[in-house]
Amino acid sequence: MNYKYLAFCTSCGFPTELTKHVLHHYFSNQTVNIFYCHQCQTENKIPDYLKKIAKELK
Ligand SMILES: [Zn+2]
Repeated sequence: MNYKYLAFCTSCGFPTELTKHVLHHYFSNQTVNIFYCHQCQTENKIPDYLKKIAKELK
């Protein structure tokens, strides 16, 4: 199934689309704790629930 998750920027509210691929190969990495907003380039902390989802992806 090809679904996407959204993470909202805490600064401007812009939704960043996260594919399953990104979650699985990037967000699931313990050393990765931030993502950059595509609109304003603000550093955002990856929400705990997305880290959890990323770890549970197969
Ligand atoms: Zn932003």
